[in-house]
Amino acid sequence: MNWALIGASTIAGQYIADAIRAQAAGEIIWVVSGSQARATSFANAHGIANTTSDLDQALQDPRVDAVYISSTNEKHHAQALAAIAAGKHVLCEKPLATTLVDAIDIVGAANAAGVMFATNHHLRCAGSIQAIAALVADGTIGQVLSMRIFHAVHLPEHLRGWRLDNPVAGGGVIPDLTVHNADVARFVLGEDPQNVSAQMGVSGMGQGVEDSAMSVWMMPSGAMVLSHDSFTHPFAKSGIEVHGTKGSIIAKGVLGQDPEGTIELTTKDGQQNIPFAKHSLYVETVRRFVQAAAGQGAPAATGLDGVKSLAVALAVREAARSGIRQKIDYGDRA
Ligand code: NDP
Repeated sequence: MNWALIGASTIAGQYIADAIRAQAAGEIIWVVSGSQARATSFANAHGIANTTSDLDQALQDPRVDAVYISSTNEKHHAQALAAIAAGKHVLCEKPLATTLVDAIDIVGAANAAGVMFATNHHLRCAGSIQAIAALVADGTIGQVLSMRIFHAVHLPEHLRGWRLDNPVAGGGVIPDLTVHNADVARFVLGEDPQNVSAQMGVSGMGQGVEDSAMSVWMMPSGAMVLSHDSFTHPFAKSGIEVHGTKGSIIAKGVLGQDPEGTIELTTKDGQQNIPFAKHSLYVETVRRFVQAAAGQGAPAATGLDGVKSLAVALAVREAARSGIRQKIDYGDRA
């Protein structure tokens, strides 16, 4: 599969270029940037033959089978629609867009065009998250009562740009991290949050957008999910707890970009560490996407998954802004 990277981004350079090349016959033949100089510098650093600041130039190349979109969030919608119109398969970064209407629009366009469209919710590709989901699905912890997701990180210096000061580009911890929590909760619990209460604030980094948020989501089963997201916590580390009538799962350090962390299960029989597969999260995301584009199965996270995670994040922000509990609006996609 021949790819064009749309966005000369950190994530493309750190993880996705290698993940594409880890696939059999995975080639990157274009990088597209808003700046020709940035495209050239990215291409030189990553060995990519063609560069452009004109998206259409790359999309008109018939050799391109698929695009990976990792520009800032406000650009995803237009870039995805252009790629879909050109008949390319699309792997798009989260959040799919800055509004629910735009996200639904992208997924509808991909369906109508018959191209594969997937969301890069890499965490559901982690062996750790899959192991936790399996423990929940097989009834090991009984009926789930609650879930706590701790995603309070210390934003690295080199990412302290638009995420902290640019609401138009989709900055803020809620579009950045709460969307991931929403996808993890949906994946692990197998149900979609119904409504949310939330608070957000600025705790040292944000300038014009929130850098911290806490929210509580009510699930259809009656389970509650507590989601804590922040850019400002140097030592908190990430984690997930799932508590059920027959057991508790306590996982630490499992919400990063690499296959790390620990999972501890406690039941009436005592405590045990749960082993899990340590494959690359991004290689797995791309592998599932390539397979799906070839007609074999579904991508790890579909476009609809991206719509739903965005819907949760938007409801969290509105609940925090208004101080009023929000029923989550999934469009008509719930
Ligand atoms: P970056 O800030 O590194 O890149 C985003 C865009 O900013 C790039 O596309 C580029 O624009 C522009 N840019 C990059 N470097 C510079 C620079 N030095 N000066 C000016 N502009 C620059 O963002 P991330 O890679 O962190 O995130 C990109 C997208 O990926 C977001 O949608 C984010 O939510 C998502 N993401 C997803 C992750 C996941 O695991 N699923 C992890 C991290 C991010 P241009 O394209 O025009 O060159």
